[in-house]
Amino acid sequence: MAVASQERAVLRHAPPKLYIDGEWRDGAGGETLGVEDPSTGETLAEVADATPDDARAALGAAAGAQDDFAAMAPRERGEILRRAYEVINERVDDLALLMTLEMGKTITESKQEIAYAADFFHWFAGEATRIEGGYKVAEKAPAQRVLVMRQPVGPCVFITPWNFPMAMGTRKIGPAVAAGCTMVMKPAKQTPLTMLALAAILEECGLPPGVLNVVTASSSGSIMEPLITDARTRKLSFTGSTEVGRSLIEQSAQQVLRVSMELGGNAPFLVFEDADLDAAVQGAMIAKMRNTGEACTAANRFHVHEAVAEEFGRRLADRMGAMKVGRGTQDGVEVGPLIDADQRAVVEELTRDAVSKGALVLTGGERVDGPGYFFQPTVLGDIADGARILREEAFGPVAPIKTFAGDDEAVQAANATEFGLVSYVYTQNLQRAIGVCERLETGMVGLNQGMVSNAGAPFGGVKQSGVGREGGNEGIDEYLETKYVAMTL
Ligand code: NAP
Repeated sequence: MAVASQERAVLRHAPPKLYIDGEWRDGAGGETLGVEDPSTGETLAEVADATPDDARAALGAAAGAQDDFAAMAPRERGEILRRAYEVINERVDDLALLMTLEMGKTITESKQEIAYAADFFHWFAGEATRIEGGYKVAEKAPAQRVLVMRQPVGPCVFITPWNFPMAMGTRKIGPAVAAGCTMVMKPAKQTPLTMLALAAILEECGLPPGVLNVVTASSSGSIMEPLITDARTRKLSFTGSTEVGRSLIEQSAQQVLRVSMELGGNAPFLVFEDADLDAAVQGAMIAKMRNTGEACTAANRFHVHEAVAEEFGRRLADRMGAMKVGRGTQDGVEVGPLIDADQRAVVEELTRDAVSKGALVLTGGERVDGPGYFFQPTVLGDIADGARILREEAFGPVAPIKTFAGDDEAVQAANATEFGLVSYVYTQNLQRAIGVCERLETGMVGLNQGMVSNAGAPFGGVKQSGVGREGGNEGIDEYLETKYVAMTL
């Protein structure tokens, strides 16, 4: 099928090249990397495939730009972000179509992601002017002073996933620019176009050459390891799977890099017997079906009190079973394809495993035939303890429901995972709500709401879901070093 003309037109926003030192260039090896539309399997564009030499050139540009950028007035750095916020919002229709084409989510969801992504620039535009230090008289020596400075960490290396192609980038670029850090960004190979379009916007908004460098590559390990182990790099920020994150932490040990890790999740969604069931079902739809379940924050398992489990399962199955599945560009479509054949195979395998261990299919359960990587929105009841989906991140539109009898059992089940990104709690009892929130081993909790993402709040996980926070007042700290000057007057 030929790409429709409107679709071809938005591709112009994404120069298909490497962005290094303010120039758009081909890769040194002259190779390209195909970007596929996951709803058709058709190739949308070919972008430059970077070699290790290209990556080193990108780091060289970042290192070369660091001192001047750190010396730029904070307000000027903030204004670049603020202008980019405006331009992203002005171009939201084109950017949403571009994102939908390469990632598959619906246009509505792409617009929501773009608004969220732009919010990080808005937030950090303000933070740029609020980097504070300290000054005090030394505790035991009145002639001495303690001066505390906050300074940019220095050149950063960023690696982002395909599921939120813009927001996972702006969550890093926003605070880095605000703090005065330069960077090399490597987006996922499935969705490089949105990041290239974002780089073009930042260039247009006055970001100096060398501050942001973007490399796209088919072989991420071979181009990123030399950068992570290079003495010029001062920080690595990674968003992606726990498995890859672990190996990047090992690589970072060589130069004792500062690291931020936003890794995998296995979010429990708890519904207590006193919950407002309408709200719980509505929240479950968001926590499960946002981004077709391809979100680190996606509710991976539903733990529902036995008194309301049947009713909750029936209502959720009615809502999910009625969702229209299709190409994200089409009107009325609510669920797009999964990103690729491998991801769909994982979803299918975890569903089959649960069913083979006795789960009841309340709706869905099957892949959708035809081109593209579609899977039916699925609700599974009566999940057995041994089902893999309770322990493994499904990253797809499957909602397994398991019952519990009391609060302790619910909290224990929620915490029975090596992950700790987010949990969701539905109850109308304030005492229970606070008690359960305190006991949950996750970096974030959605209390009577199915979404926690907010540029002004600290996003991040505990346990094997990561290290560090993005967004909120905490977000800029990841890009600042603290220097203490001991002074005698
Ligand atoms: P992934 O396979 O870990 O890939 C993420 C990024 O790492 C991609 O850019 C990928 O490049 C790159 N990468 C892979 N292997 C690498 C290596 N050896 N060296 C350097 N870079 C490497 O994860 P994914 O499948 O794209 O994303 C899904 C995962 O991300 C899920 O586990 C999800 O929970 C997690 N996630 C977490 C958050 C959070 O904030 N906690 C947010 C979103 C997603 P290629 O494109 O070349 O593979």
